[in-house]
Amino acid sequence: MTTPRTVLVTGGNRGIGFAIAERMIADGHRVAVTSRSGEGGPEGALTVSADVGDAASIDAAFSEIEAELGAVEVVVANAGITKDTLLLRMTEEEFTSVIDTNLTGTFRVVKRAAKGLLKGRFGRVILISSVVGLYGSPGQINYSSSKAALVGFARSLTRELGARNITANVIAPGFIETDMTAELPEAQQQQYRASIPAGRFGQVSEIAGAASFLAGDDAAYISGAVIPVDGGMGMGH
Ligand code: NDP
Repeated sequence: MTTPRTVLVTGGNRGIGFAIAERMIADGHRVAVTSRSGEGGPEGALTVSADVGDAASIDAAFSEIEAELGAVEVVVANAGITKDTLLLRMTEEEFTSVIDTNLTGTFRVVKRAAKGLLKGRFGRVILISSVVGLYGSPGQINYSSSKAALVGFARSLTRELGARNITANVIAPGFIETDMTAELPEAQQQQYRASIPAGRFGQVSEIAGAASFLAGDDAAYISGAVIPVDGGMGMGH
């Protein structure tokens, strides 16, 4: 058993975020998720509406969670998008919109959470990055840049707030079976599978397991770490 906490998962209405929220509920935490529609979180979670592109909607979501469940103690910044295309075809909008959701969105959420974490003298910040952040990926200059930046984010946060009983870590998933990877053409999926030592894509529950560990009492002295959950794909990166 781990100490029950108030946990927020952004983008908790499907995919990896949904699985993380389900696992946190099973671990005994009080769990809130955000979704853009305000619906769709797992049973037992408080689902609130927020768009990570909009600081006012994040602020309103936190106020609602604080009123219902108490101050957020564990933040899982999971909401993210892809807009894949090769550099020469990538528009500035395709670049900046991915950065805005994946990186600036994380900034907006973590900044809003920080006040409560400092006041409560406890915090676990978990950022969902990607193996391609440090490995690189053709057609994903926008996405991999946004995901690599989360490593600097977590490490700077660790140096700023580490003495206040607040940790900040990154989970770097490999290819996980969700809507995001289902969009890839079958030939490309085959090619990716061949580059994964485990010989298969990962399951959302395997990312949820890592998030569960980072939120738990046993991870109190782990901060600024990048935890790969990728079947060995990104080894050494
Ligand atoms: P999905 O596409 O299945 O889900 C994405 C989630 O993010 C949805 O809940 C979506 O909400 C939410 N979201 C997107 N944009 C916003 C926004 N502006 N404001 C609020 N919420 C938003 O993705 P996955 O579950 O596959 O991915 C989750 C995270 O894991 C992402 O950060 C992704 O980059 C990362 N990841 C995924 C990998 C994979 O193989 N699947 C590999 C490595 C990393 P809505 O339903 O409203 O669109």
